[in-house]
Amino acid sequence: MPIRLLSEQLASQIAAGEVVERPASVVKELVENALDAGATTINIDVSQGGRKKIQIADNGSGIFAEEVETAFLRHATSKIETAAELEAIHTLGFRGEALAAISAVSQVTLVTRASDAQAGIRLMLDGGNVKSRETIGAPQGTVISIEQLFYNVPARLKFLKTVGTEKRLIDEFVTKYALAYPHVRFRLTHDGRISFQTTGSGEVRDVLVAVYGADIAREMLEIGEYERGDVQVGGFVAPPSLHRANRNQIVLFVNGRWVKDKNITYAIIQAYHTLLPVGRYPIAIVFVRMPLEQVDVNVHPTKTEVRFRHSGHIFSAVQRAVRETIVADSPIRHFRAGQFESLTRPQGWQGNQQQAFGRSSDLSWDQLSDPSSWSGQGQLDLSSPIIDLEPGLGAPEEDFSPEYIETEGDRLPMMRVIGQIGSSYIIGEGPDGMYLIDQHAAHERIQFEKFMDAFKRQEIPSQRLVAGTAVHLPPDQATRLTNQTAVLEKLGFEIEPFGPNAFMIRAVPAVVSRQDPTRVINDIIADLEVGNAPLQEKIEEKIIRRVCKTASVKAGQTLSKQEMEALVQQLERCRNPHTCPHGRPTLIYLSVAQLEREFGRA
Ligand code: ADP
Ligand code: MG
Repeated sequence: MPIRLLSEQLASQIAAGEVVERPASVVKELVENALDAGATTINIDVSQGGRKKIQIADNGSGIFAEEVETAFLRHATSKIETAAELEAIHTLGFRGEALAAISAVSQVTLVTRASDAQAGIRLMLDGGNVKSRETIGAPQGTVISIEQLFYNVPARLKFLKTVGTEKRLIDEFVTKYALAYPHVRFRLTHDGRISFQTTGSGEVRDVLVAVYGADIAREMLEIGEYERGDVQVGGFVAPPSLHRANRNQIVLFVNGRWVKDKNITYAIIQAYHTLLPVGRYPIAIVFVRMPLEQVDVNVHPTKTEVRFRHSGHIFSAVQRAVRETIVADSPIRHFRAGQFESLTRPQGWQGNQQQAFGRSSDLSWDQLSDPSSWSGQGQLDLSSPIIDLEPGLGAPEEDFSPEYIETEGDRLPMMRVIGQIGSSYIIGEGPDGMYLIDQHAAHERIQFEKFMDAFKRQEIPSQRLVAGTAVHLPPDQATRLTNQTAVLEKLGFEIEPFGPNAFMIRAVPAVVSRQDPTRVINDIIADLEVGNAPLQEKIEEKIIRRVCKTASVKAGQTLSKQEMEALVQQLERCRNPHTCPHGRPTLIYLSVAQLEREFGRA
């Protein structure tokens, strides 16, 4: 083929691909435009996850009648004029690409009236070509409707995820911007139902209530006015007692722009060093302000990546600001009764009992905490063993669902339990050597095989919570949970909608009946957040793994001889005793021959 210039139409479709990847990117660009226009009210109405229609209405500056067509041209912007201005971007947009890109791949209707204009304009475009223009009466501001997104780009359309996924991404995006712009009143609806709204009160804490619910919002600690050189850090961070299983709830804004930055995220995690249990992450909304010329936002068309001129300085400013905030928070907070996280102990427990449980720093009190105080079911029975003394594992020869079980591993020999080290490892003696067993990993393996057995027989024991537990979730997580309620029900949960973005947990799988249901649900959602829309069976598997992990004895818990024996016997009966369901080893084996070599006997 000869070399030819692409048609304008095709070139803009290709360019559009970089800016608008999916409905959520359309929402992002249009919300950014509304914020740049100084809007104080932004209404976002989405139908069918944005495939059918996205409409964004703002009360910002509006667009002058003589400029409406220009706004849709590529590289047309009112926000910068010179290369020098590119050095100090103070608006969210500046590339002049969004409207051109969006209109190239959809049907757009724009209604706008600038503040001192007599009348408004309605402009309709199809695939970027103007179809009609008329003068109409309209309130000040802009209403832009995007219909039939990607109708002329079948390749893109094919790669869109389910409506549920697209909704969730939109929710996630809108809630983040609402946190950074608390004085703007946001309202988001999906198919006519309000998913999220804020009051525009100017208080971040009010937005936190709308996103996370009143309980979490109350606990979040405010980073005071923190300044280091010309960097200012603000925002809200969770106390160490409140944590999540992944880093998705760490949100960063730089000069009012939501950015993703691995380094600064790491600085925030570092600030919690030793205060959070291993593998747990904080909730943090951090706003960084710095001179505009010290940050390059022109790295990528979507503008979510930035480059800092002095990244080390920003790293330490953020880390210190967060650290000071959590350290200044009185340590008493972590020990409030009724809040069952790893640093909390049940009311009425004394120091000597703590000693009895070994290394206090690794203790996970929730294993043993009083379940009656969080769900009203049952009584704390300290005599009841942590390890189920009934083996309860299916007969070894019974066949097993192959999707879940890797290859059948070598079985373990019979062992004699010698004792426990560091309240974490069990020493066992086998016929020809010594076994060092990681009690948590081993128990996870046992619970996993038991659970899978029950799942295969479709008889997962479920435990009803007498009072039920209400959970409030951010809208994107609520959508995620709603999408999976059928799966959760198969696994022994019973969850009902309980108001917007809130749920009532009525029952949980019996294995986790001792755990805080809110935490179980939050951890499951966090696991689902990692990795992209997996196959349905993978979702089941993820949830099962998490349930089994939660239900397992933790490192740092002292076990009775009887419990250790029960655990080892059950591990011996497992089909794959050598690894936990996440693939980590459950035990280390030292053969007699190896010992002899080490001692120079052989
Ligand atoms: P950019 O935001 O990078 O300037 P866009 O393509 O998003 O590029 O928008 C082009 C121009 O249209 C903007 O510079 C702005 O002048 C105008 N515009 C877009 N949306 C709005 C809005 N909601 N209110 C007022 N003006 C708008
Ligand atoms: Mg823009």
